[in-house]
Amino acid sequence: MNDTIAAISTATGVGAISIVRISGDEAFDIVNKIFDRNIYSFKSNTINYGHIIEGDKIIDEVLVSIFLAPKTYTKEDIIEINSHGGISVTNKILELLLTNGARLAEPGEFTKRAFINGRIDLIEAESVMDLIDAKTESARKMAINGVYGRLSKKINKLRDKALDIVSNIEVNIDYPEYEDIEVMTIEDIKKYSIELNEEIDDLLKTSESGKLIKEGINTVIIGRPNVGKSSLLNRLLDEDKAIVTDIPGTTRDIVEGSIRLNGILINFLDTAGVRKTTNTVEKIGVEKSLSLLEKADLVLLVLNNNEELTNEDRDLLEKTKDKKRIIVVNKSDLDEKLELDLPYVKVSAEKNDIEELLNKINELFKLEDINSGDMTYISNAREVALLKQAKESSENLINALENGIPIDMLEIDIRNIIDSLGEITGESYDNELIDKLFSRFCLGK
Ligand code: GDP
Repeated sequence: MNDTIAAISTATGVGAISIVRISGDEAFDIVNKIFDRNIYSFKSNTINYGHIIEGDKIIDEVLVSIFLAPKTYTKEDIIEINSHGGISVTNKILELLLTNGARLAEPGEFTKRAFINGRIDLIEAESVMDLIDAKTESARKMAINGVYGRLSKKINKLRDKALDIVSNIEVNIDYPEYEDIEVMTIEDIKKYSIELNEEIDDLLKTSESGKLIKEGINTVIIGRPNVGKSSLLNRLLDEDKAIVTDIPGTTRDIVEGSIRLNGILINFLDTAGVRKTTNTVEKIGVEKSLSLLEKADLVLLVLNNNEELTNEDRDLLEKTKDKKRIIVVNKSDLDEKLELDLPYVKVSAEKNDIEELLNKINELFKLEDINSGDMTYISNAREVALLKQAKESSENLINALENGIPIDMLEIDIRNIIDSLGEITGESYDNELIDKLFSRFCLGK
């Protein structure tokens, strides 16, 4: 028998309502001890009025939602207590549940039980977390597709195809002499394998969009002092009413802020303030900016339209040449003194003329295409890594087929494809990995 687990499922703090949730075989027994009505008399899927009590003292006036196993989130009995919001009320109710026999749930343990008890697969579980974390409408759409099993369906279809190939290979091996059994010829196997490889590849390609939707585009604004980096960031952020946070660095401030462009978060990191510091600090600042470049998905290298190219500019152009970058020539409202034979966009932070830059970001990352897709994308790093493994095995399989490797040797590659795809949905799983995965969830989910 599993422990009965309890946790506060709503965010901590003051609010109109809070929910304390309990799941497990003893959920009814435990709640019955602290509720002033007979909990067993309630039907499943009903909400019931009453009081949480401790002895003869009333703790709170509540509504309890009753969910009888197995048609519940965890497939176990669940009771949710809707109490008045507030730290002291919710903590007291949780404490009463714990002193009457429940155990405090670990982060994500309700969802982990939903997975272990076979109600949802691993993709669906991970998507629940993505849904909670979603900061944009696109991220929400992508996550809900995962929660509703649309991505799982795609993975299962690929796995079924691989299973189909392997079963035909087995028939070929086991009954080579029976001509009346319909078996796949090597040519058929080759055709199906190429198809499978293409389908895996198509799904893998969606991971680029998936990553952008989930994490946004990490963009570093770089350039020498006074070219207008801070002004540009302020314009970008003002434009889209973004939140600006100042993260005090040890030597100077880094300003960070995000905007939504076509539903995708663009996270800007400005290397502001360098010019206000002494030379030594300035040096450290520049080094820090350069180290930020390593992790950036996009670099905005800002130059001044009103000045000739300096050696520092040339140095930055060289250092960012292999990155995905946009050269932004700022101060277009001033006389043109800059000469540059590289592609660039022209803006004026001062005059709020930054349209060209936004269009370029859109174009570079094909943001419009991302949002017009079906949003059933693979985005989770674990899932992407396993899909890449499946792709590698499917390429090995095709190579083997092309090189005329004996049929029984092909089975290893197909088995690897099946295993990798199965791990994505959690068909097969490792306990340690599962514990690690769910520990990243929030408490009470
Ligand atoms: P940073 O050191 O690169 O962050 O540069 P700032 O954003 O602090 O700007 C340096 C100076 O350039 C300030 O006096 C700004 O007002 C000015 N500036 C910034 N953008 C423009 C622009 O588009 N046109 C003009 N004329 N001045 C600008």
